[in-house]
Amino acid sequence: MTPARSLDFRFLKAHVTVERVLEARGLLASLRLRGNNLVGPCPIHGGDAPNGFVVSRAKNLWYCFTRCRAGGDVVDLVCLLDRSSYRETALYLASLAGATAHRPAPPPPAFRPFTARLDLNPRAPFLASKGICPATARAFDCGLFRGSGFLEGCVAVRLHDPRGQPLGYAGRILDPDRARHGKWKLPARLPKRSLLFNYHRAHGHPHRGLVVVEDPWSVMRLAQLRIPAVALLGTALSSEQAALLAPCSRILLMLDGDAAGRLAARDLLARLAPTQVGVAELPDRLDPDQLDDHDLEAICRLFLPALAHHKA
Ligand SMILES: [Zn+2]
Repeated sequence: MTPARSLDFRFLKAHVTVERVLEARGLLASLRLRGNNLVGPCPIHGGDAPNGFVVSRAKNLWYCFTRCRAGGDVVDLVCLLDRSSYRETALYLASLAGATAHRPAPPPPAFRPFTARLDLNPRAPFLASKGICPATARAFDCGLFRGSGFLEGCVAVRLHDPRGQPLGYAGRILDPDRARHGKWKLPARLPKRSLLFNYHRAHGHPHRGLVVVEDPWSVMRLAQLRIPAVALLGTALSSEQAALLAPCSRILLMLDGDAAGRLAARDLLARLAPTQVGVAELPDRLDPDQLDDHDLEAICRLFLPALAHHKA
């Protein structure tokens, strides 16, 4: 059975608008109405061209005229924003449509964790370019996958559930052509909404505070500075992820310096209250892993003063 048939994409496309998805993520505020279209910077690639992204409300389609040079329907949009599989996307859209009650689908096959450890090359030039040294990559079970199959041509990094049980590997696609419609490969049916990358290592000292970033690379860079961090693997925060962060006394949001990162930070700031939350707004087009160690550390210690007492 194809996912399309079991989850009825035609029904979901007819019942969930592109506008509704953008609204649910707090992304609507950056768009403005022009005729019957919504126009604004592209939330997918995080562009800043004010007319780069257009939503046709009449056709329920979107298009990015700048970097993505791509468009599609509501399913394509969620797949790109969340880097999610078709099944995850369908379940998410069904939740927005309130559709599950009307269309009982057979229960999805359960996620099967992949527990074996892969042999990865921690000396990948991609990691070096992010300032991640081989020892750190090794400690995070991260490196270039040299075999064939699902992770072929990817820099892979191991994922764990919140208790530290291995779930498998996420793969960052290095070939820019293959990465055009999403940079990440995730295991099928990965329970992405209930995990935060590195949570099992970082959450042990809630009084120290926690830095929340988008990608594993920033987590590893911060680990080299002994600063505890978790990654969202994107910009969306699920209610399960928010619950994991709730016990933390102070949180610093350090998302990428683009429109998507800024909008997400605003959304997260509202949703994580009453935890003490700071937002580090990075300059345009700058991601945390592009900062040098000195700046990265200075920003974190400014927002999370308790870190100072634990410096090794
Ligand atoms: Zn775009």
